[in-house]
Amino acid sequence: MRELRGIGASPGAAAGPVYRLAPPPALPPLAQTFDPGAEKAAVRAAVLAVAADLARRADTARDATAAEVLRAQVMMVQDETLIDAADVAIDGGADAPHAITDVLAVHRAAFEAAGGYLAERVSDLDDLRDRLVAACLGLPMPGVPNPGHPYLLIARDLAPADTAGLETALVLGLVTAEGGPTSHTAILARTLGIPAVVRCAGILDVTDGALATLDGASGVVVAGVSTETVTTVNAARLAEIERRARSQGPGRTADGHPIALLANIGSARDLTGEVEGVGLFRTELLYLDRNDPPSHEEQVAAYRDVFAALPGRKIVVRTLDAGADKPLPFLRLADEPNPALGVRGLRVARQTPAVLTTQLAAIATAAAAADADVWVMAPMVATAAEAAAFTESCREHGLPTAGVMIEVPAAALRASQMLCHADFLSIGTNDLSQYTFAADRMCGDLADLLDPWQPALIALLASCAAAGVEVGKPVGVCGESAADPDFALVLAGLGITSLSMAPRSIPAVRESLAAHTLDECRQIAEAALAAPSPAAARAAAPAASRQLPLGGGTGSPR
Ligand code: PEP
Ligand code: MG
Repeated sequence: MRELRGIGASPGAAAGPVYRLAPPPALPPLAQTFDPGAEKAAVRAAVLAVAADLARRADTARDATAAEVLRAQVMMVQDETLIDAADVAIDGGADAPHAITDVLAVHRAAFEAAGGYLAERVSDLDDLRDRLVAACLGLPMPGVPNPGHPYLLIARDLAPADTAGLETALVLGLVTAEGGPTSHTAILARTLGIPAVVRCAGILDVTDGALATLDGASGVVVAGVSTETVTTVNAARLAEIERRARSQGPGRTADGHPIALLANIGSARDLTGEVEGVGLFRTELLYLDRNDPPSHEEQVAAYRDVFAALPGRKIVVRTLDAGADKPLPFLRLADEPNPALGVRGLRVARQTPAVLTTQLAAIATAAAAADADVWVMAPMVATAAEAAAFTESCREHGLPTAGVMIEVPAAALRASQMLCHADFLSIGTNDLSQYTFAADRMCGDLADLLDPWQPALIALLASCAAAGVEVGKPVGVCGESAADPDFALVLAGLGITSLSMAPRSIPAVRESLAAHTLDECRQIAEAALAAPSPAAARAAAPAASRQLPLGGGTGSPR
């Protein structure tokens, strides 16, 4: 047995044989002699196989954008000119894999020369080439494997295209050698409820088919376990999933203090099960991968879908958060040496105010036709003046409840001033960590700085919560930290009024809150706030709950 340690990125235990993301195929040397007819037939067979595989992935893709990208790839691979050009290359002396590679290299150069949107599609062409070549050579399709039974997926890291069609019935757990706890892979794993460990050195040395267990909370992976261990771990996990599925009702501490448990979503499809409401509706999905912004009508339809799903419930819509890790071609933002510190989030409205006003008008139209309690907030607000301008614009559009996200330390330090204008605050701890510690949220090497248990982050959270308590306005948290059942106790104790997370994370947080009184949460928060380091804060918080005289003690030290 071999124990490996990474960073727990999505809670839960899982066990099974490991299989790695198949690498792109290496192009073999050109065949010296071949039958041109057989090579042409091989190209046609590869096209059929790849088109069928991509179409199946598009049908099962988790989000609309990923499905669209995959369907575009199906159309590219079925383009007749590709087969015609491959035939010409084969007649000119290339075998099937080389013919495909040569033809797609010509397309690639043309895309690159065209620039703009087409230049951004070259990675789709590279992916197609890899798939077609693998099909010709009889190798497994690059990307997520399908061994025909459940398994643990291991990879260096996952690209968004790899994750689009992850089948939760097959992929029991995920271990990556790179990435960090706020990377897209980690967020996706939490959204899908797949236990995950990231930044696990040595995982790529484990051979395909070896049995392993992973603990998505502690980050421990054990390779070389027995079949009995696999059966026991998975049975326990299944029992836990079933028990949690039965957990329902609003978020409450043991003594009945309400902490609303809300969902983070990107579209109506992400709404699984009963939720109290939506605390973060990320609207970027609508804008991705397009040359022009979505029209007023398109936006109204998308927002209406979500509003209609939750009549009478609160839905917090975040206006477009473009730039940095969410680049959008149609905005044609200038190349920035430091995009995370550049024109992103609300700042885009400085250059293209119509993008924001069109969106607010569409949200207002959809809200007027629905029963939901629609709130609106802006991302990346830095000053009280920005908060004032945004909330005023919302009100002009007939949107009565307007708030701001707290993602920039300057905004957190001036939370009281923000609340002079905003009706509520929603703290995005993913970005607030990044900017407080000057640590790129995608950089796994700096994961220790991005830990929400960092005392400096907790201090900022405390002052925002206190500002809300003082004026009686809601202050929620919608970053990934809200999904940590132990950290949720700290947030409740600080005076945070709602926690928003991937819907699958809600039951564990609900249970954790229900096991502690508000007073206990306050003591846990105090202990975390006074701790000198994240490790001490983590250890101090559950220890504080164990020492409580009134029946605390369900907190689990890590
Ligand atoms: C955050 O920054 O915490 C947040 C919720 O926004 P996003 O992850 O979409 O940047
Ligand atoms: Mg953010």
